[in-house]
Amino acid sequence: MKNIAIRKNTQAILDQYDLNALKKYGQNFLVDANIIHKIAQQANITKETCVIEIGPGIGALTEELAHQAKHVIAFEIDERMKNVLDHELECHNVEVILQDFMKVNLEEVVSTIEEEDVCVVTNLPYYITTDIIKKVLTTPTRINRMVALIQKEVALKLTGEEKSPLSNMIDYVGDIKYCMTVGKSVFIPAPHVDSAVIRIYKERNMDPVLIEVLEAAFKQKRKTMNNNMKALFRNETAQVLAACNINPTKRAQELNIDDFMKLVEERRKRL
Ligand code: SAM
Repeated sequence: MKNIAIRKNTQAILDQYDLNALKKYGQNFLVDANIIHKIAQQANITKETCVIEIGPGIGALTEELAHQAKHVIAFEIDERMKNVLDHELECHNVEVILQDFMKVNLEEVVSTIEEEDVCVVTNLPYYITTDIIKKVLTTPTRINRMVALIQKEVALKLTGEEKSPLSNMIDYVGDIKYCMTVGKSVFIPAPHVDSAVIRIYKERNMDPVLIEVLEAAFKQKRKTMNNNMKALFRNETAQVLAACNINPTKRAQELNIDDFMKLVEERRKRL
């Protein structure tokens, strides 16, 4: 291994290819081999695993994933990285695809992967963290776990008491663990805030009716369930909420996944 993640090696690559970190793509490059090792460890990768990485950058994490896995598919939006990865990554089991991950047909990609065991491991660009997690969780695939380095504040929200659409989705598909905090100093350039590693286990695919119910319930966060649910249940809203034993003056963030599943049942009866 080249150890791209060592600070002086990363700096040398950035200098050699005349690369400046682009804020619009959330580029903060990891320069701590120990943290990279710990991230990969959380994913329980074996020589039978295919890892999907989102945003390889100059390949610091990719190199470790390639060392542990059978196969790595890495999606990168920044065209400048292709040349760097082609020359610096000395791994034959990495496939770099230059594409915006949000535009990738994930279902199709996963269906063509030969390995049975498929997971996602990523140091996520912060500007698009929740959208990417949502995409991985709501696309029906056999991806069964995701390890991600994200903003600490977002990690605390996802694992905390107050619920969001995404944390309810996680409760439905499986569970989440806050693995560790990562300080600012292990990145070039250093971000303004601390980061954290999370691991999500996905035991089942998302229910599309639950997505619809969550979107309606959280549409206007300050409005009550009685207000937001009218979009789905019209003049039956009061009756539906009563049948589900949900106080109509509560807000969506005060409810839990069991409440939402009762609403899903009511919605299904009316479809
Ligand atoms: N994996 C590298 C590391 O750990 O040092 C880089 C991580 S950096 C925080 C995020 C990476 O995601 C950048 O390489 C950036 O160009 C890439 N990226 C940003 N938006 C993306 C998108 N929509 N699809 C794919 N890659 C994206």
